Amino acid sequence: MRHDGRPDKLVSVVVPCFNEAEVINATHARLRGVLSATGLDWEVIYIDDGSRDGTLELLRSIQTLDPQVRLIALSRNFGHQEAASAGLEAAAGDAVVLIDADLQDPPEYIPAMLERWRDGVDVVYGQRQARAGETYFKRASAGVFYRLMQQLSTTPIPVDTGDFRLMDSRVVDAVLAMPERDRFLRGMVAWAGFRQEALRYQRDPRFAGESKYPLRRMLRFAVDGLLSFSLVPLRLGVYLGLIASSLALLGILYSLVLRLFTDVWVPGWTLLFIAVLFLGGVQLLFLGIIGEYLGRVYWEVKRRPLYLVKERRGFPPSDSEVES
Ligand code: UDP
Ligand code: MG
Repeated sequence: MRHDGRPDKLVSVVVPCFNEAEVINATHARLRGVLSATGLDWEVIYIDDGSRDGTLELLRSIQTLDPQVRLIALSRNFGHQEAASAGLEAAAGDAVVLIDADLQDPPEYIPAMLERWRDGVDVVYGQRQARAGETYFKRASAGVFYRLMQQLSTTPIPVDTGDFRLMDSRVVDAVLAMPERDRFLRGMVAWAGFRQEALRYQRDPRFAGESKYPLRRMLRFAVDGLLSFSLVPLRLGVYLGLIASSLALLGILYSLVLRLFTDVWVPGWTLLFIAVLFLGGVQLLFLGIIGEYLGRVYWEVKRRPLYLVKERRGFPPSDSEVES
């Protein structure tokens, strides 16, 4: 129904914020400017992901001044993907835009995304053309990661695509209906299908402050994405096992032939040593990989909530939890 003609409706913008005190006022000013110019109804939903630098206080005052702002404060730092999920859940829009708080994803692209949405595209994802102001290491590691995902994932996930995207509400509903704890949103949205198109954009440097994804978190995120969308690492065990046993078979044949048809004995220790070390190594590696998957299954079966909310402001009064 929404697709025939697509009358102008509500746009929600979801902004996860963790320690973004230095940028948040600038972010809101730019978002407000862009959104007012669209002529559509809009709301901005800020999610404070347990910031410790006064971001929440700033968000409260932004919310007090601007009735189109909604604020959700999580009870602690849950992580970017969880904060974004909280925002998607609260978004009432017919189209929902997910954007970082640090102005790396320029809000000025939102009208172009809305344009495509009005033409019937369900997901318009930002695809980075350039990543200004990011270290060579970050760009290189991201490049490797996206290409590895491309190879291994059961769902094709577009390369160089972060979370900056517009989604039709039916895609948002689809993503929210996915019960997994392990949230790799860009993969989940890709999995949902519908009509998805890329919007090429220039990624700016962070406006202020520093990245909240240090190397350790980035690795964690990459492993999460990989394991939740691919079983290839598990299957590697089969291949390596095959290779190891073929090698062992060759060794056995070789020593048997020597023993039966010649007077030479195989000098056993070296071979034995190598075989034991190799097999032991392979087994430990795959115990580890199985452990990674098993651990995830364990988290999933616990069924803990994704996040806990400690404060909600600015939501329409029909919402039972609203505070004033
Ligand atoms: N973020 C969050 N919770 C976290 C880490 C980050 O809500 O635990 C937010 C952060 O405020 C920003 C977005 O996620 O709006 C992306 O984070 P960041 O810019 O630090 O990542 P990068 O762009 O360096 O990958
Ligand atoms: Mg950033």
